[in-house]
Amino acid sequence: MRRGANYNPAVSSSYTAGGEYLFPTRIHADRAAGTLAIEWPDGHRTVYDAPTLRWLCPCASCRGEAGMPGWLDSNPTLTPEQTRLVDAVLVGSYALCPTWADGHHTGIYPFERLREACPCPEDVARRAAAAEGGRR
Ligand SMILES: [Zn+2]
Ligand SMILES: [Zn+2]
Repeated sequence: MRRGANYNPAVSSSYTAGGEYLFPTRIHADRAAGTLAIEWPDGHRTVYDAPTLRWLCPCASCRGEAGMPGWLDSNPTLTPEQTRLVDAVLVGSYALCPTWADGHHTGIYPFERLREACPCPEDVARRAAAAEGGRR
């Protein structure tokens, strides 16, 4: 097994906007630690802490719809219950749906979005570079 043998953490982000990352090889929700770890077919590993994941919630009430701002747009102070991950289930083969301790469970997070928003340093640098390029 040479799985992962070519993975070199020193190279810059391995992210590309394509379908090849759309299904994780492993998803692990650690309720005690409050983290969600996702491993991708290219060997990349994404770890979200629960509050970061909660802030990404793409549902209509958090994000708004039809031009109306959502709840998260009002920059609310999230309670510990609202940022405590209690469960995460697969939605079809394209997304993950977390359940939060306050009962919120309407956020469907597409894998592509979870990979795109990866909070690791290399992906933060990638997004910063992309924003820089877009400003030209
Ligand atoms: Zn939501
Ligand atoms: Zn990353």
